[in-house]
Amino acid sequence: MKIQYLGTAASEGWPALFCRCEACEKARKLGGRDIRTRSQSLVDDRLIIDMPPDTFYHALKFSVDLPSIQDILITHTHEDHFYPLDLILKAPPYAHGGSVQNLHVYGSAAVTGMLKETMKLSGIPEIEDYITPVEVEAYKPFKAGDHTVTALPADHMKNENCYIYIVENDGKRLLYAHDTGIFPRETWVYIRGMRFDAVSLDCTFVLDYNERGHMGFPNALEVKRRFLHDGCADGNTRFVINHFSHNGNKTHAEISAHAAGNGFLTAYDGMSLMF
Ligand SMILES: [Zn+2]
Ligand SMILES: [Zn+2]
Ligand SMILES: [Zn+2]
Repeated sequence: MKIQYLGTAASEGWPALFCRCEACEKARKLGGRDIRTRSQSLVDDRLIIDMPPDTFYHALKFSVDLPSIQDILITHTHEDHFYPLDLILKAPPYAHGGSVQNLHVYGSAAVTGMLKETMKLSGIPEIEDYITPVEVEAYKPFKAGDHTVTALPADHMKNENCYIYIVENDGKRLLYAHDTGIFPRETWVYIRGMRFDAVSLDCTFVLDYNERGHMGFPNALEVKRRFLHDGCADGNTRFVINHFSHNGNKTHAEISAHAAGNGFLTAYDGMSLMF
């Protein structure tokens, strides 16, 4: 299985659009891995997770063949993870030829509701031939192409069911956990004893402590320890931190040095991980 991180920032990007803080100015100077766009990942070159406003840029920068994509998982409706207006561009007159496969977009009722509203407002009568919103429930595995996916509750928004996702294929299992704080109890119960090959954890607060809504590194480390304790991980499980805010004020080199010492990879835009 392969995951490629296309965007690894929190909602404002890093450097943030309108920010002159020390972290953003440093990122502008350093470039490279210190430039982080909004959250999106690609699994096995065919399953996309989240649809931020930077999707167009990601497709150009990392040669993602968007017309061939048939499945997109959405974690929640925050705009750095879900920008449904770009999905309308799947239909003519915005796309022709190679773009005819129906695109399945999976998410909570909040996600599918927002998508259906956007489709209606598009005024394109045949839009439903191009995009299929698929409402998914927590704990119920479903097929997204040849991947088996299970949504689980995240700890993120009070007024919406936000999901983290288990993605399985070829005997491998990934947990994609963005955006979330320390998982809700029922999520811990569901995954207990389920071994993961790779675990991607929220690290919005970078090296600072934060339990609810998002995590920082001390909390991601706490989750890792619990995975090892609960039989969800072993010495071969790859742990990744991802989704960073400029307010953490650390360079990629500083974050990754700290994380590596604790057995974590630090995601950067374009990073691929095979497991
Ligand atoms: Zn986010
Ligand atoms: Zn900043
Ligand atoms: Zn969010």
